[in-house]
Amino acid sequence: MTRVLVVEDDPQLLRAFTINLKARTYEVDAAPDGATALRLAAARPPDAVLLDLGLPDIDGLDVIKGLRGWGQVPILVVSARRAEAEKIEALDSGADDYITKPFSMEELLARLRVALRHRAAGPVAGAGARVVRTKDFTVDMVAKKATRGDRDVRLTPTEWHLLEVLLRNPGRLVPQRELLQEVWSPAHSDHTNYLRVYMAQLRRKLEADPSHPRYLITEPGMGYRFEE
Ligand code: CA
Repeated sequence: MTRVLVVEDDPQLLRAFTINLKARTYEVDAAPDGATALRLAAARPPDAVLLDLGLPDIDGLDVIKGLRGWGQVPILVVSARRAEAEKIEALDSGADDYITKPFSMEELLARLRVALRHRAAGPVAGAGARVVRTKDFTVDMVAKKATRGDRDVRLTPTEWHLLEVLLRNPGRLVPQRELLQEVWSPAHSDHTNYLRVYMAQLRRKLEADPSHPRYLITEPGMGYRFEE
């Protein structure tokens, strides 16, 4: 049984989440505020957390930090807040993904499944042999070989590194800062222009229609996502 902790102060939304999750056989703990959320998480460790940032007592960002104090439970932030800075702060505080209201319940459940898969796979997922195949390209991360149709695609070491980080995290929104730190260095974490340039190159080499990417998706102002 997969337990999901839902933290939401809007009673109607909390009820909607609970009904939809239970219908899909998740076990649900419902918290109307941050203090209850942290108490419930300590008493019954959840497998995933859906978290509203705007809570009546503690700020949602502090709930993320509180949850991160104990472990690596996937946290999916669900919020009406639109300010980019806040989304980025949520991701930097340790949230795994972010979904902005209004959204469809199906989209939310899909993101939740990705977060749970990611956790089940563990931090070393994809560290070993791995070949990623899409309809348009194939990437063999062990042989360091990429092909599009029957043609080899030549990638620079930096392009490889960036592509590998994204492919190792299918479906997950990887924050800009995480990509910059991993592929370049912590000193480069503000150089988001690098990402724009290198992502454009990767799309040109791998996507069938680089101006309408299907696999290497931009989440504006936040990060990038590899959609399988
Ligand atoms: Ca709220």
